[in-house]
Amino acid sequence: MSLPIVAIIGRPNVGKSTLVNRLAGEKAAIVHDQPGVTRDRTYLPSYWGDREFVVVDTGGLVFNDDTEFLPLIRQQAMTALTEASAAIFVVDGRTGPIGADEEIATWLRQQKVPVLLAVNKCESPDQGLIQAAEFWNLGLGEPYAISAIHGNGTGDLLDELIKHLPAVEELPEDNEIKVAIIGRPNVGKSSLLNAFVGEERAIVSPISGTTRDAIDTCVVRGEQTYRLIDTAGIRKKKHIEYGTEFFSINRAFKAIRRCDVALMVIDAVDGVTEQDQKLAGRIIDEGRACVIVINKWDAIEKDSYTIYEYQKILEGRLHFSEWAPTIFVSALTGQRVGKILDLVDSAALEHKRRISTSVVNDVLEEAITWHSPPVSRGGRQGKIYYGTQVSSQPPTIALFVNEAKRFGDNYRRYIERQFRQQLGFRGTPIRLLWRSKK
Ligand code: GDP
Ligand code: GDP
Repeated sequence: MSLPIVAIIGRPNVGKSTLVNRLAGEKAAIVHDQPGVTRDRTYLPSYWGDREFVVVDTGGLVFNDDTEFLPLIRQQAMTALTEASAAIFVVDGRTGPIGADEEIATWLRQQKVPVLLAVNKCESPDQGLIQAAEFWNLGLGEPYAISAIHGNGTGDLLDELIKHLPAVEELPEDNEIKVAIIGRPNVGKSSLLNAFVGEERAIVSPISGTTRDAIDTCVVRGEQTYRLIDTAGIRKKKHIEYGTEFFSINRAFKAIRRCDVALMVIDAVDGVTEQDQKLAGRIIDEGRACVIVINKWDAIEKDSYTIYEYQKILEGRLHFSEWAPTIFVSALTGQRVGKILDLVDSAALEHKRRISTSVVNDVLEEAITWHSPPVSRGGRQGKIYYGTQVSSQPPTIALFVNEAKRFGDNYRRYIERQFRQQLGFRGTPIRLLWRSKK
């Protein structure tokens, strides 16, 4: 489940951070630790009525000054806007509109995202209306008079804001599972696809996916529907004579984006290559569940140790094999192919799983007892106050701590291992967000 993002934009000192803190209801910052997302942006969960969203503080957006860091800040704000469903443009009601506001407004009017104009620092209701009226000229519609410090006017602003947010997609329990068959050319993707389609009784004809040339195939097994993502990419390839250079990694990346569970197909004979690692990295970055399928197992000469030895090699080359289940199959003979979807089922369940706050805290308490948080050079100890799961797909747990920076990678990994040991999460990545609470 991904929540709509609201970008808070404006020049420095107009009160963006104050507004973000008010909307998020607390002075805590989640640093989104999803790789690929700029790390120095702050994402905070927020809600109004029954609508949930995430607010992003973009730093200051300044156009008419060329100091060294400004282009960076500007870039950051622009990036934030590309992923946002709506933006709140904050201006300072005390100073009235200035040139920089006009520049930003001109730019904002060219963007596709709906923009609400918040005139901040309007503490007095009567005075506020007059202050706000000065901003009509920015051409961004009605200026909302607010005070981020005291909260006046923010209710009206939020009422309007949520009208512009897309509905959150919540998957009903019995929904289809979206599966992407991912792997280098010739590892056996199309053979596996044929095996799935041949083995399951009910076959649905190809269905258009969201992108123009992506065709999905649906397969039904028992009560469960599996949507095999972008099977056109897998089927069409027969016409092309290609080596690795024809391998469309972008196509694979797009399929990973759309799936719930990625089947990472690896050729048993070739072993794990660099391209496999690249694909695997993307699966984790996108937070998808994963099952590792070692295909062509028939082509390997083996004794009773082979699987064990192979598993060891995998662990060295694909670090997520610690949590992703691995299955050794042959698309050619059909050996164990029927079991793949069982693993997909359980990975999809783990991916959606929700853990109660009390269980999260039991695990934390136990973990801290065995291994207390690190003490920094200054002699101050890291403290974990409590944790709670904030979203699923993948399971994401926010940990409220005294100061996030006191917790180094080792301790973070230790805590993650504890969650896995106690709660499983087999087949899904999990995310821990370390939030400073002061
Ligand atoms: P940012 O740089 O846009 O993030 O601005 P900040 O949130 O850091 O606020 C800049 C200054 O404006 C701070 O001194 C705030 O206390 C002050 N400020 C923020 N919101 C309000 C408000 O609603 N009323 C008044 N009077 N001051 C505010
Ligand atoms: P794709 O490019 O990933 O879709 O791979 P294909 O399904 O087209 O398979 C590539 C080649 O590997 C073909 O010659 C297949 O017959 C062969 N192949 C696929 N699966 C197996 C398997 O399980 N065992 C063996 N020995 N060969 C396989």
